[in-house]
Amino acid sequence: MTQLGTGFRYTQREMRLALRLFLVVLTLAFAQNCREAEAVSESPFDKEAQANFVEYLKIDTSNPPGNETTGARFLLDILVKEGIEAKLVGPDKDRQSVWARLPSGTKKPALLLMHHIDVVPAPAKEWSVPPFSGEKVNGYFWGRGALDIKSLGIAHLMAVVDLKRRAVPLDRDVIFLAVADEEMGGRAGLAALMEKSPELFSGVGFVLNEGGANVTVVDRIDYWGVEVDQKVPLWIRLTAKGEGGHSATPPADGGATKRLVDAAHAVSAIPMRSELHPSVEAFFKSMASTKPGKRGRILADPRRYFGTPDIAELPYGLQMLLRDTLAMTRLEAGTSTNAVPDIATADLDIRMIPGSDPAALLTQIRQVAGPLVEVEVLLSGPPAPASAVDTDLFAALSRVLTTASPNSKVGAMVTAGTTDSRYFRRRGIVAYGFSPFKINYYDGATVHGADERIRVRFFLEGVELMRQIVSDFCARKPA
Ligand SMILES: [Zn+2]
Repeated sequence: MTQLGTGFRYTQREMRLALRLFLVVLTLAFAQNCREAEAVSESPFDKEAQANFVEYLKIDTSNPPGNETTGARFLLDILVKEGIEAKLVGPDKDRQSVWARLPSGTKKPALLLMHHIDVVPAPAKEWSVPPFSGEKVNGYFWGRGALDIKSLGIAHLMAVVDLKRRAVPLDRDVIFLAVADEEMGGRAGLAALMEKSPELFSGVGFVLNEGGANVTVVDRIDYWGVEVDQKVPLWIRLTAKGEGGHSATPPADGGATKRLVDAAHAVSAIPMRSELHPSVEAFFKSMASTKPGKRGRILADPRRYFGTPDIAELPYGLQMLLRDTLAMTRLEAGTSTNAVPDIATADLDIRMIPGSDPAALLTQIRQVAGPLVEVEVLLSGPPAPASAVDTDLFAALSRVLTTASPNSKVGAMVTAGTTDSRYFRRRGIVAYGFSPFKINYYDGATVHGADERIRVRFFLEGVELMRQIVSDFCARKPA
């Protein structure tokens, strides 16, 4: 007899029968799910989107080193084949971006569709499928970049191809831009293009980029998060040097590693500032009606709950928007157990509350790290203002999204992450982070991790949604 922890008793035979039945049901549900996903994608346009996506996923654009030119050339070939004005751009031949434009002949502010070609590295041994195989298995596309951010790139591409094929008269220019180097901060990508080829951006008034996040419940969207603001990144490298040598006679002061550990400890002990920023307050309020119970009450009135223990009821990700955070990410020192290294480094990824100026914190870090440790800034920059929401583009997004998902809410969100949108916001250009995809939280967790994947059905629905949004916002309206 077997105990199931509920006090009921079953014979061996009954157990085997129940198990067999359970397995049959599971297999049927699974097969049904795959059939459903497969069935959705029958139009030639959908087949093409899938084929382009799979090919794009197969291109290894891990950054570092990047090798984005291979990805850029793949996209360029598709654009040129459609007869769209397109070219490779960028100062580094191995790290090219691709730029394309559909002209409208009008002076209205152009829409720029941007995504990044590069992806973070993907150690194959951690994956259950090869990360650059573009495999389509169990109703999913698998691969590095499936969520971040090659799926969005293909949705943008297909939206532009669709406008061209249907010869839609345009009300404003549409620009497609796939950039290099986003994952390392954009200096060898968008920042370099803005500096060296500003003409690529002339007339741009609106940008749709990565960065948005949606609340997906099973296969329904409750909340479309259009990202308008983000935390301010400050990436630091601490470097300590010291006397190296045989560790049987270690240096009296502990050497480079001890110095580094002490400094890293002191820096991570700096009290992190907390504040309820207006963008975050507006974001929470816009989301409140989609959350039941206490969470909904806190989101509806965050100022009342800010600084109280109740705030801990919020999802951890949302709590990160209420304070500066510091993560120690890369430690490097030494080559062997019996040798004291003469150099040791630690990387710190600091994310500050939106609108923060990193200068004061940087000074504090230099002070507590002490004179024996070098503090190098890997990434920083002036804060970028939030993008306004009372715009034609936000209205178009709301219109199309609430038509597609009638019971959903469209809101202005803030992300703890960092994207290239900040470069546009600093220039006063409206930039929204927007994802047209449904993504379940357990799939969302694979971003920058192993087994990154997106459901086939959700990918195709997102491609269609992006097509509608770009068409709605850019097609000339009948007089
Ligand atoms: Zn990304």
